[in-house]
Formats: sequence, structure tokens, C-alpha cells
Amino acid sequence: MSASSVLLIYTGGTIGMLADPRTGTLRPMDLSHLEEQVPELERIQVQLGTIAFEQPIDSSDMRPADWLRIAAIIGKNYERYDGFVVLHGSDTMAYTASALSFLLENLNKPVIFTGSQLPIGMIRTDAKENLITAIEIAAAKDEEGQAMVPEVAIYFEYRLMRGNRTVKVHAERFEAFRSPNWPALAEAGVHLRYDRASILPHRNGGLKVHGAMDDRVAVIPLYPGIRAAWVEQALALPDLRAVVLSTFGSGNGPTDKAFLSVLRAARERGLLLMNVTQCVGGRVEQGRYVTSQAFEAMGMVSGHDLTTEACVTKLMFLLAQEQATEEVARRMATPICGEFTLA
Ligand code: ASP
Repeated sequence: MSASSVLLIYTGGTIGMLADPRTGTLRPMDLSHLEEQVPELERIQVQLGTIAFEQPIDSSDMRPADWLRIAAIIGKNYERYDGFVVLHGSDTMAYTASALSFLLENLNKPVIFTGSQLPIGMIRTDAKENLITAIEIAAAKDEEGQAMVPEVAIYFEYRLMRGNRTVKVHAERFEAFRSPNWPALAEAGVHLRYDRASILPHRNGGLKVHGAMDDRVAVIPLYPGIRAAWVEQALALPDLRAVVLSTFGSGNGPTDKAFLSVLRAARERGLLLMNVTQCVGGRVEQGRYVTSQAFEAMGMVSGHDLTTEACVTKLMFLLAQEQATEEVARRMATPICGEFTLA
């Protein structure tokens, strides 16, 4: 069997930065130095191609247009490679991975995101292991010669997680990501162990790369004492189409009349309201407590066990396709690519 081929797409982030010897400030390095930093790459049995953003960016500067750019690069190179590794800053990696899971319809090859907490040139770096194992996963095939992981995933610190289930939970630890509501797709120890039952099945029909996102989406985190008048201002933004309400516990919020009537009025004007829990794990159960019954009654859409990252990017994806907000509401209630589970 010939060696698998993997395209490495470098977008920026700490993994590819070098510390300025004088000031210590981190700046992006040229991808051509990657093999100098990781000589092990020469020994991997994988044909590597590389492509880099002209201006590598810190992932805090990622915008929906950049997600589309990454999707287009994968679309253009889809037939030439067996898998893809996207090097990306960890800060917003869960958003980009979620967005890509929707933009790459019918994906049947691995798209593995990785990055690191320390730059690749540093002695204690976590980058080398992340990069080498991500490449190995992107190249892995099953007994039938099909991709082992035909979906968008994040590999970080010995764990492979579904991209649209993942959240960044730590600013310093190497173990920076978690997938609270879905099992790891693989664990890397002495062996790379795949949990096949948790990986999406293979898809036929050919890849379709979508080319638009509608960013008229806002997130409002609830907190005790939140003022109805402020929420009213936010919901009155002229071109807003959808709002993710980041709610307490299993989808709860204040029963304050003024607060609820502001939400109800927005809903009646046609704004789509999503209920996503601000807890790291677990799910929304709208109507379970009195404090979420009004949400249910006004037609707020339950986010079930969606992450905020997956909810925001799915909204942007669907709003770009549908003029009718109610059609988006309907499609938000059905999983597209394993991003949530109905109870
Ligand atoms: N600020 C960096 C970024 O997200 C952090 C990292 O790469 O992990 O681009």
C-alpha cells in the first residue's frame, strides 16, 4: 500500500511562533522552518504537503471569512490528499473546527485541528506530540482502506475529540480542551486507540464546500441581576437575526416579568432565540423548571447539549442558507453532523 498523503494547513497560533531572542515576544515563523524544528517529520511514513496563510494569525483574529478560506483550501485539495491537519491557535480553535464541520458537507476524510500551548521551538513544548500524532491520525486508514476518522476533529494532549463538541477549558494547561458531552474519538498512549462507535460513519455523495456564513448572530450570557433594559437594547440591533442566550443550569433564567417580556417581544418580531447552557457539560431541558417554562412558551429553541461554539457557527451557517428565520429554527432542532444529541 502506498503511503498516505496529508496536507498541513498552517493558519497561525502559538504552535508556529518563535520567541524573539531579544524581547521574548512571540511572532509567527515561516512554515519552511517546520522540518528544522521537528526533524521527526522526515521519518513519518506520510507524504506531507504544506500550505500557509500568507499572514499567519493569532486565532483571536479569526473571522468567518477565514473559516471559509480554510474550507476552500480543503475543497481545492480534497482529491489529492487522504487527510488534512490544520495548525491553528487554541483560543478559537473550537469555533473554527465547529464551523468547518458544517461547511464541509459530506466530508469523508479526516480534518484534524491541532495547536499547542508552547511554541514548537521551546524545549518543553507540547507542539511536537500534538503535530506528529495529528498527522498520524489524518493518515490513518481502516481495514478497508477508508479513512479511520472521516470528520472534523481536534487533537490535543493525547486526546482526539469531535470538533463541534469541543471547548477550550484551560488557558495554561497542556490539557486545554474537553469534549464534555461526547466521548473522545481516540486516546493516544502506547497505542492509538480509536473508539469506533463514537466516530461518524463514512459518507457518500461527494464533498460539498459551502461558501457563506451570516454573522448577524449575538450571544447574551445571563447573570443574576441582568437588566431587562440592557437586554432590550441588545435585541434591538437593527440587523440582528439570531441570539444565543447563555442560560443557567439546564436552560434556566430569571422569571422577572420585564426581562421575559423583552425576550417575548423580540421573538414576536421574528428574532430566533436559542437556549444554550453556560455549564461546561450537560444539557438544556426546557420546561423542567418553572424558570425555563416561559422560554419554552415563547418558542425559544432548545440547544440540547450544544456547545456555544457549535451553536454560534451552526446559526451563521444556516442563516446564510435560509431567508426565513423559522426555517433556520426548524433546522437548528436537527443534528447535522453529530453536534448534539436529542435526549
Ligand atoms: N493566542 C494563541 C492563539 O489562539 C494561543 C494559542 O495558539 O494557543 O492563536
